[in-house]
Amino acid sequence: MADQGLQEVDEGMIQSNWEEVVDNFDNMDLKSELLRGIYAYGFERPSAIQQRAILPVLKGHDVIAQAQSGTGKTATFSISVLQSIDISVKQCQALILAPTRELAQQIQKVVVAIGDYLNVECHACIGGTNVRDDMKALQDGVHVVVGTPGRVHDMIQRRALRTDSMKMFVLDEADEMLSRGFKDQIYDIFQLLPPTTQAVLLSATMPQEVLEVTQKFMREPVRILVKKDELTLEGIKQFYIAVEKEDWKLDTLCDLYETVTITQAVIFCNTRRKVDWLTEKLTSRDFTVSAMHGDMEQGQREVIMKEFRSGSSRVLITTDLLARGIDVQQVSLVINYDLPANRENYIHRIGRGGRFGRKGVAINFVTSEDTRMMRDIEQFYSTQIEEMPLNVADLI
Ligand code: ADP
Repeated sequence: MADQGLQEVDEGMIQSNWEEVVDNFDNMDLKSELLRGIYAYGFERPSAIQQRAILPVLKGHDVIAQAQSGTGKTATFSISVLQSIDISVKQCQALILAPTRELAQQIQKVVVAIGDYLNVECHACIGGTNVRDDMKALQDGVHVVVGTPGRVHDMIQRRALRTDSMKMFVLDEADEMLSRGFKDQIYDIFQLLPPTTQAVLLSATMPQEVLEVTQKFMREPVRILVKKDELTLEGIKQFYIAVEKEDWKLDTLCDLYETVTITQAVIFCNTRRKVDWLTEKLTSRDFTVSAMHGDMEQGQREVIMKEFRSGSSRVLITTDLLARGIDVQQVSLVINYDLPANRENYIHRIGRGGRFGRKGVAINFVTSEDTRMMRDIEQFYSTQIEEMPLNVADLI
């Protein structure tokens, strides 16, 4: 049973009081249309937070989940909301608040995508859009509303958004929300919901003001803390190809191209100039590749990342500068065209958080001069880098 009070709070971290873990979506007793939606969206296994937080929400508990961004919190509450609403009743049954318009829109897209086979109606209620259009959309009937506090409050007051059927209230990025001064508005909205409404709060950090909110309107909350993922080489198969000389790397890569494009791959070079050079060489040989490095403007980088995430580009050439920023779940192959200049970067290039239980393959191009560096990396990480086998394609 979840205990009350948060006296165990320690330096902005909550402590978990819920142990149950379900490591498979099939075992969560979800509606079949929802399960189909999850798999169609490309998820295979639940992430750590999803393994822990979805079930207590479905059991009706108020839940506080603390986890870093990128760990799958959005999908956690989206799945919970979709499972909890009654699709045959076209009234708003779940309200999700987010700190920014962009985030609210992003969440709305996730709910709609995962809820595709349920035919869920989910509306984004955000500032900066036409109030009348919003009212019309709400009056036409929706199951779920995702919004920013100001506009949501406005819609409730105008009685365009009815709260009588509300079952679940989700506060996403609670720390962000409070630091933006939304506290009063959140309280005001909460007052307008039925007293039986279940509350779910997600936050990367737990500063005092977030804890105050949880104490104000959550009942015996289940608390779940997912610690930051440490990068690991576990589950990553690491190979090398002895290319002898620098000049032979390009042909080696071209020979590998077909293998590489079975999946998506990131290729690391040590300098921006090398990235540009390699991109040009490959393009002139009619290989399709994208490139990204720190000399590019932010906007341009975002376009390239978007293409890569969507899968429309399959090979991305880049430098270490961006190794830490790339969080593309489908990348199962990394090629070190150059071995990293220092061994710490090796794990940032190829290591995984192991978040979604994915495996990976790394291929290192090693010249005669690099052999020592490779041995050094092996020793440093107590790991093994083996010569690439011929059947590498089967491993990707
Ligand atoms: P957060 O809300 O914690 O920042 P998101 O829910 O946006 O995290 O998830 C981060 C990324 O991971 C997204 O691209 C999302 O599609 C992906 N993701 C989330 N859950 C899973 C899963 N179970 N399997 C594979 N990818 C997932």
